[in-house]
Amino acid sequence: MLIKRLHESTGQRLQAAGILESAREAELLLEEALGLDRAHLYLDGATEIPAQALAKLEAWLVRRCAREPLAYIIGEQEFWSLSFRVTPAVLIPRPETELLVEAALMVATTAAPPFRGPLLDVGTGSGAIAVALARELPEAFIYAVDRSPAALEVAQANAIRHGVADRVRFIATDLLGGVRPGRMFPLVVSNPPYVAREILPDLQPEVREFEPRLALDGGPEGLAIIRRFPALLKAALAPGGWFFMEIGADQQTAVLDLFRATPFLEQIEVRSDFAGLPRVFQARRHGESTCRAAQRADRRA
Ligand code: GLN
Repeated sequence: MLIKRLHESTGQRLQAAGILESAREAELLLEEALGLDRAHLYLDGATEIPAQALAKLEAWLVRRCAREPLAYIIGEQEFWSLSFRVTPAVLIPRPETELLVEAALMVATTAAPPFRGPLLDVGTGSGAIAVALARELPEAFIYAVDRSPAALEVAQANAIRHGVADRVRFIATDLLGGVRPGRMFPLVVSNPPYVAREILPDLQPEVREFEPRLALDGGPEGLAIIRRFPALLKAALAPGGWFFMEIGADQQTAVLDLFRATPFLEQIEVRSDFAGLPRVFQARRHGESTCRAAQRADRRA
């Protein structure tokens, strides 16, 4: 069979299965299954395809038409221009989560005095956020926690793949359970489960049937885990430290109310994503960073 015809029929089958970006996904499936790059898809329109590659493509296409996410089929997802390994044990990194990384980096790279002490990623999943931060902040040490040991295996593989495994420590724990009490972090980031349990059944099949419930289900109104953060931050966010958390587009008011009632936080704000939807909550803990206090102590000495 010729690539051109195969390309067309793949797109048609995806479209018939209700997949919105059928043309783009057909390209990706062909590229990955046949080991071609995009240009060859068009240039080599008349090349014959080996039977083995054809069988692989067919198997993948059947899975995709059953609405399994492409990222799980090919086992990869790009985030922050890095290729991450993904399995059904982890939420597939979303492009809008890059906004959280961007916001956290902005603060981390301009902090004066610079952050001292490890950073914390709560609910790391595939490790996308922790690994992206570790890549961008070559001096940083990051603790990344998750309830799911299976997710942490994937995260560890991603840290190794991107050369930061010596600076990211993964801990299997619910929120802060495994982190040493009294340890304070100048930067805490999280993409917690925040989907309202009530609407889980309405999500698209790719999410509803294939992505880990543990990573999505935020309980009633999607706020159950988010409500635990003020206590977590009280225990773990260093004075002067920053907190960044992804939220659902309809949670801005509830989340602002919750954190405005948290006395030790200031500079509370929600940033919108590229679609104009509220997406990243941020706040700073009152007080001087421990680093500045340390510098003053140095001067006095
Ligand atoms: N952004 C994801 C979704 O809309 C949810 C991720 C999360 O709960 N942290 O499916």
